[in-house]
Amino acid sequence: MNTNYDKLFEQKKNDIDPSRPPKLLLHVCCAPCATACLLRLAAFFDITLYYANDNIMPAEEWQKRLDELTRLTTIVNEGSFEVQPLRPLSLVVQNYDVLRFLDAARGSEKEKEGGARCKKCFELRLGDAKRYAERHGFEMFATTLTVSPYKNSALLNEIGLSLQTDKLLWLPTDFKKHDGYNESIRLCKKYDIYRQHYCGCAFSQK
Ligand code: SF4
Repeated sequence: MNTNYDKLFEQKKNDIDPSRPPKLLLHVCCAPCATACLLRLAAFFDITLYYANDNIMPAEEWQKRLDELTRLTTIVNEGSFEVQPLRPLSLVVQNYDVLRFLDAARGSEKEKEGGARCKKCFELRLGDAKRYAERHGFEMFATTLTVSPYKNSALLNEIGLSLQTDKLLWLPTDFKKHDGYNESIRLCKKYDIYRQHYCGCAFSQK
């Protein structure tokens, strides 16, 4: 039977003590995906955004997506977003090192999007998020990647769950539910946020 990760998310959310919102490290692939996820998360978690995306090529595109995420963070923190965050969002950026991605992807460069290369790409980025979250005392970690219809939410959740520990829990999500992807398109139009036309790596661009 398929696991309903959206239902698991709702259960976790309902268990939260509002006087003590969990510290959540949210791995963010790009601002467009973050918009719809923040709609679902901002009122319940103490969120730090984590931009760790060695897969994005070229470096100028990595920077462009970061600039848009920085702008979205400002929009939210200024109170102009549709949902107010419990606490001001922080944005942490992991230094760009595309060689780490190319190493991880070696041998699967020719795979179609959604294949073995993407699994390695997810493992790389979620592993980075897990290590940062552990070092900095977060209680939970999650990713915006599940909002995309091109990303396998079950696989993302399986990887996340395999990385969780007693002290650092994976927050299961399936942000494409509740029309998440269309919501991200709507919010990008509303806030004039750049939406890229390829996933990230040069292989997906082809
Ligand atoms: S297509 Fe996207 S998810 Fe797959 S390897 Fe490339 S950047 Fe990563």
